Amino acid sequence: MAGSRKTEMTDRDVLIIGGGPSGVAAGLELRRQGVTRVTLLDREPTLGGATRHCLHSPFGMREFGRVYIGAAYGRRLDREAAAAGLDVRTGHSVVSLGEEGVVTVTSARGVETLSARRVLVTTGAREMPRAARLLPGDRPVGILTTGALQAFVAFHGLMPFRRPLIVGSELVTQSAVLTCLTHGARPVAVVEAGPQALVRAPLGLFPGLMGIPFWRNTHITDIRGGSRVEAVTLLRDGQPVTVACDGVLLTGSFTPESALLLPTAQGVDPGTGGPAVDQSGRGRNPLYFAAGNVLRAVETGGWAFREGRAVGAALAADLRAGDPVAGPVIPVTHDDPVKLVMPSLLRRDSGMAAFRDFQVRFRHPASGVLSLEVDGREVWRRSGHWMPERRVLIPIPGVALMAERVHVRFR
Ligand SMILES: Cc1cc2nc3c(=O)[nH]c(=O)nc-3n(C[C@H](O)[C@H](O)[C@H](O)COP(=O)(O)OP(=O)(O)OC[C@H]3O[C@@H](n4cnc5c(N)ncnc54)[C@H](O)[C@@H]3O)c2cc1C
Repeated sequence: MAGSRKTEMTDRDVLIIGGGPSGVAAGLELRRQGVTRVTLLDREPTLGGATRHCLHSPFGMREFGRVYIGAAYGRRLDREAAAAGLDVRTGHSVVSLGEEGVVTVTSARGVETLSARRVLVTTGAREMPRAARLLPGDRPVGILTTGALQAFVAFHGLMPFRRPLIVGSELVTQSAVLTCLTHGARPVAVVEAGPQALVRAPLGLFPGLMGIPFWRNTHITDIRGGSRVEAVTLLRDGQPVTVACDGVLLTGSFTPESALLLPTAQGVDPGTGGPAVDQSGRGRNPLYFAAGNVLRAVETGGWAFREGRAVGAALAADLRAGDPVAGPVIPVTHDDPVKLVMPSLLRRDSGMAAFRDFQVRFRHPASGVLSLEVDGREVWRRSGHWMPERRVLIPIPGVALMAERVHVRFR
């Protein structure tokens, strides 16, 4: 990075941070709605976000009417952004957010300060690495996430192991299995700490159909190896088992990429781990908006794209309205074991809504009644068996926008 420091205080309308599906879709929608001065920043050399390293389908069916592999879908996003006339700046890392829509950016050009009337954060999510999962044992190389594995394969043509143990059973685990099998590695097993696969059937059957054992109720208690992983000790149904393997592939347990927001006054929501937003995708600081996986890890590429487009439309309406919204916020709270509710706040005078539903997730499997209360009055209820990492949608009723408090109750 060059040592210069520049300040670019232009009359830019929107600065988008993150060029994955949600950021690009928001930019396209802003341009479609006549917002001309839109800059899109991404730290990577090309747009596409997490889709860039996915050498598998399906991506793009609903937004582009055809099925792409992730890398081709990323290239399509790149072309769409260029055709729409977005001011795209790749190789630009945003390192801090100011309260007044002023952000600090580093690139080969040096350190710059960029400003805009509104800032949209679409920085995505990432799988939890080893340290955050508190996995004990030696510290050999060969312990990585699906995203990191895919980056090795897609960008460097390297497969870092041949017989990895796969940890987790979310949707992304299928990508992990597929990436291994199509690039010369055969997983020794897929292990899940809970009593069943987190992904919906029939996808949870995929490892078994590929001849890879799937072990439920299984935890890692030790990782052994000098320079490389040599073995992993598991507690399987309460019994210790040691498995020879040459890598550990950590899948899922996504967390929002919200480090930029942590030091700001708006911070992050403790439930979602991302910025708290209202029904328009607007943050506690009304100059900031957010969309995509940074809001609540994790959804598919198509979902992130549609969410970006909806927040882009709401943002365009917000700009047309003139001054940033100033009114008070209505907090949306929830009971345990509900893990998160998004949006986690509402505004009476929010303008155009981007979200018609509250998205709810559970921390662990639970049976009972889920209900929505507006000022203490129940307005929606459903009973069932609720699984973690499954999206539950509760329509946002009009009365909630007139309320003092909104609560998602679980009994
Ligand atoms: C391994 C894997 C497999 C997947 N498989 C599928 C699949 O088969 N089908 C499917 O539909 N979905 C799949 N997904 C999910 C899909 O990729 C995501 O839902 C989608 O990419 C999310 O879009 P997003 O815009 O919210 O964030 P991302 O795509 O994560 O984009 C965020 C962007 O923000 C940039 N950024 C972050 N911080 C900064 C910063 N400080 N400064 C500048 N830029 C920054 C990043 O470089 C990145 O480009 C997969 C995801 C993974 C990880």
